[in-house]
Amino acid sequence: MYVDLAQLEHDELCVEHEYAAGELELEDTEIALCAPPRVRFRLQRLGLEIRIEGRIEAEVEAQCDRCLRAFRFTVTPDFDVLYAPLAVLTPEEEVQLTERDLRFGFYQNELIDIDALVREQIRLALPFRLLCRENCRGLCPQCGADLNHEVCRCAPPVDVRWAALWELKRRMEDS
Ligand SMILES: [Zn+2]
Ligand SMILES: [Zn+2]
Repeated sequence: MYVDLAQLEHDELCVEHEYAAGELELEDTEIALCAPPRVRFRLQRLGLEIRIEGRIEAEVEAQCDRCLRAFRFTVTPDFDVLYAPLAVLTPEEEVQLTERDLRFGFYQNELIDIDALVREQIRLALPFRLLCRENCRGLCPQCGADLNHEVCRCAPPVDVRWAALWELKRRMEDS
């Protein structure tokens, strides 16, 4: 989905869009969409710059970093992005903008790529660690059992503090 700035009748445009099935792909290896997302935004023309603020609602599926099970969760990022026309920026300015403000976007040929905005905002809304739940116990590093569902018979991991004590005891016995 694109907004064609050349076709804008006013300096402001409000859009509510529910994607159709298959209309948007995330192009992401970590997460997938469970259902078509929705996006609602207000676009304002501010001279050459375009401000777009709004909200996305998306249900995504990811794999838990600890137990590797697939799980679903909802992300609802609010965004407020300023777009500048790509042509008027020198490469130097571009670098400064990227460093100064990640909420800056660019448009070309009077077109704003809303799909790219939605993809990026969903990506930015993801937590640093993808966990099926806060206290997921993960997999046993030795037998691979899912410790959320079973207790395996592997020895508990050796506590480094005890290991140091044992080492000390051994040395005292040796001497
Ligand atoms: Zn998990
Ligand atoms: Zn185990």
